[in-house]
Amino acid sequence: MARRPLIAGNWKMHKNHLEGVQLTQKLAWALSREDTDAVEVAVCPPFTALRSVGTLIDGDKLPIALGAQDCHPEAQGAYTGEISASMLAKLGVQYVIVGHSERRQYAGEDDELVNRKARAVLGADMRPIVCVGEVLEERESGRTAEVVQGQVRGSLAGLSGDQVAGLVVAYEPVWAIGTGRAATADDAQETIAVIRSTVADLVGQGAADELRIQYGGSVKSSNAEELATKPDVDGALVGGASLDADEFALIVTGSARRAR
Ligand code: PEP
Repeated sequence: MARRPLIAGNWKMHKNHLEGVQLTQKLAWALSREDTDAVEVAVCPPFTALRSVGTLIDGDKLPIALGAQDCHPEAQGAYTGEISASMLAKLGVQYVIVGHSERRQYAGEDDELVNRKARAVLGADMRPIVCVGEVLEERESGRTAEVVQGQVRGSLAGLSGDQVAGLVVAYEPVWAIGTGRAATADDAQETIAVIRSTVADLVGQGAADELRIQYGGSVKSSNAEELATKPDVDGALVGGASLDADEFALIVTGSARRAR
């Protein structure tokens, strides 16, 4: 079954709204229609740039989806500094990253909270990008599959097959994020296949076959195409390299070549 890969740029805490607009304009110039027909492209700016980048995408009808990097699990309330899923939906946001390893590490997020956030995103008619991935010590002690299976089960707990089929999982080994040391395409494929079979166990093979599972962790134009040759890898979540429009566009082009 053909799944359309998703190449999403996670800008993290980079780019103010003016810089975000410039980067998106430059990216749109660098993308070809052929590429964006073959793969879906998204950018996930910081909250403060969502409105400006979203207005540009809408106004110029750019073939780029808008994503956010996080949200609060509650619909509203006395949560100073937080942003709800419905506030993001109102800005035209289509994807929301939940459970990124930087939030798991710096904000103490666990699978239960990631699950609540994923439900909030789905409840606001957007698609969560649910991040999972092992730390180096877990990989070196041979526990990658066990760790990732636990995160998938916890983060997707209680969701229906239809809900899971429409969301995105990003497999991001923590040791590969921002380090320049990406997983090999074979290692990414192996773990992503484990994720897909865990999802099949949870909600059935049909939903598992529809679910898109990205790889993330030091993706660049030099390794994107090889990753895209792997049958279970449905695109990439890209951090650092998404801040350079030309480099990000090359990642899209390489992935699109394999997806056509
Ligand atoms: C990320 O932030 O999700 C990520 C994968 O970062 P990088 O591409 O910089 O490793």
